[in-house]
Amino acid sequence: MANQLFLYDTTLRDGTQGEQVTLSAEDKVRIAQKLDDFGMHYVEGGWPGSNPKDARFFEMARKISFKKTRLTAFGSTRRPQIRPEDDQNIQALLRTELDTITVFGKSWDLHASEIMGVSLEENLAMIEETLEHLKQRDRRVIYDAEHFFDGYKNNPEYALRSVKAAIRGGADFIVLCDTNGGSLPTEIQRIMGEVMPHVPVPVGIHAHNDCGLALANALMAVDQGALMVQGTVNGYGERCGNTDLVAAIGNLQIKMGYPCIAPEKLQKLTELSYYVSEVANIPPLSERPFVGKSAFAHKGGVHVSAIAKNPAAYEHIAPDLVGNRRRVLVSDLSGKSNIDYKVKEMGIKVGGNGFDSERIVREIKSMEDQGYQFDAAEGSLELLIKKVTGQFEEPFQLESLRVTMEKNRSGPSTSHATIKISVADDHEITAAEGDGPVNALDNALRKALNKFFPNIQEMKLVDFKVRVIDGSDGTAAKVRVQIESRDAKESWSTIGVSENVIEASWQALVESIQYKLSKTLNGK
Ligand SMILES: [Zn+2]
Repeated sequence: MANQLFLYDTTLRDGTQGEQVTLSAEDKVRIAQKLDDFGMHYVEGGWPGSNPKDARFFEMARKISFKKTRLTAFGSTRRPQIRPEDDQNIQALLRTELDTITVFGKSWDLHASEIMGVSLEENLAMIEETLEHLKQRDRRVIYDAEHFFDGYKNNPEYALRSVKAAIRGGADFIVLCDTNGGSLPTEIQRIMGEVMPHVPVPVGIHAHNDCGLALANALMAVDQGALMVQGTVNGYGERCGNTDLVAAIGNLQIKMGYPCIAPEKLQKLTELSYYVSEVANIPPLSERPFVGKSAFAHKGGVHVSAIAKNPAAYEHIAPDLVGNRRRVLVSDLSGKSNIDYKVKEMGIKVGGNGFDSERIVREIKSMEDQGYQFDAAEGSLELLIKKVTGQFEEPFQLESLRVTMEKNRSGPSTSHATIKISVADDHEITAAEGDGPVNALDNALRKALNKFFPNIQEMKLVDFKVRVIDGSDGTAAKVRVQIESRDAKESWSTIGVSENVIEASWQALVESIQYKLSKTLNGK
């Protein structure tokens, strides 16, 4: 039976040292609570001695009772030539009143003598005395041996002596750090093989991703007997980041069989990854292993027809194991099987013994040739399938429209749209204003349709993107407009393509409303 592993999250400290990551004290509280719900064993909250934001975080966190997580505060060994009781930072660690403290110290002789300018013996005393001071005050102490692997490569004897100083001081965990992220998995394997027999306390790993190897190094360290894995959600962290705990959990628990978290929490892995990107305001990476939007997306026709028979053909695990889902994409690379899969998913009937699917594929290919792109516009795709198979009737027709824009020297621009539509034998003419031409069009169209289809009030436009597609054969450049709309139940994307941005926007706008009406008119 494999050992239970301890997960140690440092998103709130090491993660925020990443270039793109900024978290307020409130954000940090929200993430800490999410990590607690998820079942993370340790959450490093920050460096209370280093900045007022972290001190405030610890003050707020004191009022929260965590169910599973032990919150820890992070700091360094005492400064040279003073006693721990006189060191402000160590006293700030104790003032958090947390029962677990993480202290880092130097294992690399180069850092002790060249960077800090202390004797090698003084560095060992700084480690031992700091830990002793905290242990005497009943703290559980996790010791991060900074630069352990680089130190060991340079001077193995001294690196090991630094770890032994921490053990004498009473360390409960010795965490070996690949701080510069420059080690190879084979080096981790060799060095841990040599070191582990000399370390009688549990060992952890803290790896950085400068060679793209943080995860591989963390997994190797566990294979060599490490019981604690440090890392951050989504791998955020200094320079190229830290071990991505999301992928680490997927691998350790599913592939290597080490229990990390409760099995039902594994299904929250995708949610956790998205939640942290959302709070950190960093767009989630589609290709992120296990949890990314593309992790179980299939585009090639051969793959789609295979997974329809057995998903294991092109999926390393079942996506729902980690709370993700399978997606079949439809594009000009698609074959009939993508359409068959998609049509089933959308609940549309197609007939003709595959004849309809072939017609749909032909239509998609010809439209993608003109610049349409359906893998990101499922609303337009569904309408296209219904139109090709005669299952959609245009609910309204455009008779004419006019858009004007006005701007004078000082004021902001204003736009006006006039529109004439027909619904069966009825006509409607309306005019509306907007702060831009598309907004004016949207307002005029809704006003005109409102009388016939009052339920379009339930939907709203939430995103609008314009992309220039280069005109390859000497024609003018086309633009592709993508609109995202939503109502209380769902969101959908539609597209339009034209050399004229207003025309492209009009197409996307009309399809967005047609999609909504197609759902409603079906009585859904
Ligand atoms: Zn680090």
